[in-house]
Amino acid sequence: MQRKAGWIALCTLAALPALAQNVKVTPLGGFDGEFCAFDRALVMEDPNGTRLLYDPGRTVVGANDPRLGKIDIVLVSHTHGDHLGNAHTSAVGAGECGRPDTSVSDIPNGNAVNIALAKKSKIVTGSDMPSFFAAKLRANGGNPADSMLARFGGSVTVGGVKIATVPALHSNGLDPDYVGGDLGKAMKDAGIWGDVGLATGYILTFSNGLVAYLSGDTGITAEQDLVVRGHYKAKLVVMNIGDGFTTGPVEAAYVINDLVKPNAVIASHANEAATKDGKVVAGTKTDRFMKAAKVPVHVPLSGKTMEFNADGKCVVGC
Ligand SMILES: [Zn+2]
Repeated sequence: MQRKAGWIALCTLAALPALAQNVKVTPLGGFDGEFCAFDRALVMEDPNGTRLLYDPGRTVVGANDPRLGKIDIVLVSHTHGDHLGNAHTSAVGAGECGRPDTSVSDIPNGNAVNIALAKKSKIVTGSDMPSFFAAKLRANGGNPADSMLARFGGSVTVGGVKIATVPALHSNGLDPDYVGGDLGKAMKDAGIWGDVGLATGYILTFSNGLVAYLSGDTGITAEQDLVVRGHYKAKLVVMNIGDGFTTGPVEAAYVINDLVKPNAVIASHANEAATKDGKVVAGTKTDRFMKAAKVPVHVPLSGKTMEFNADGKCVVGC
C-alpha cells in the first residue's frame, strides 16, 4: 500500500510539468455547451496562472458572473457594443442561441470596464483607446494607471504574458452614449461617433512560448501575412468569421490557409446559432469555415475548456 501510494505520487510529480505547459482557453458564451450569436468572450489562462479576458461583450453576465474567477487583464479589441459590452445578458441561457437576451444595460461604462473595476484588472488596449478606459476607471474610483497601452509594433508584458496589438481593418467609433451629457446628445443628433483610434487585434505570447493571434473584427489585412505570420509567427488564431461586419467563412479561411498559416484556429464571432446540442449545424458559417480551413478548427463551446501547447495544438478538451 505504502509503495503504491509512493508510486502514484511519483507519477503525479512526473506528469505535472507537462500539464502545466498548456494555455487554457474557456469560452464564456451565452449558452452552456453551445456556440451562439453573440459569443466572443474567452478567458485565456497562462500556465503561470495569469488570466486574460478577451472581448467580454454581451455574454458575460456582468462582473459577478461566477465563470470569470480571477481576471488579471481585460483585452478589448475595439469599442463596438458587442465587444466592449454596451449591455449584457440577464443570465446564461436567457433568450435563444440565435437571438440572445441582452436586457441589462452597461451604459455608460461598458461591461468590460465594470468587470475590470470589480476584478482590479489591467485593461490593455491599442491605438487611442487607453485614455478612454483610463477616464472610465478614474470616473468610477478605479486607478487610471490600470489602463495600459500596447500600440502597433510595441508591446507590454503583464503577468508574464507579452501583449502586442496589430491593426484590424474595421471601424472603432465610440457610441455617444458612453460620452453622455450635452456633448453625447449633440453627437448622437449629428450621427457622429467618437474617435478612439483604430480597431485592433492582439498578439499574445504566453510563458510556454505559444503565440496566439486574436483577430478582433477585421477584414483581410496585409499585416496578417507580413506581421502576424512573418514577424510574430502565430501558431494559434482566434478568427472572426461572421461576415457582413468582418471576414466571412471564405475570407477567414483564406487568412488562415494563405496568410497566417497557424497550426489551429478557434472560430469566433459567427453571429449565428452555430451549434445545437453542442454539434455544429450543417450549412452554418461555422460549418463552412471548418470545411474551408486546412487546419483544425475548434468550436468555442461555452464553458468547455480547451488546452493548447506551445505549437498551438489542442491537446486537451477538443
Ligand atoms: Zn463585432
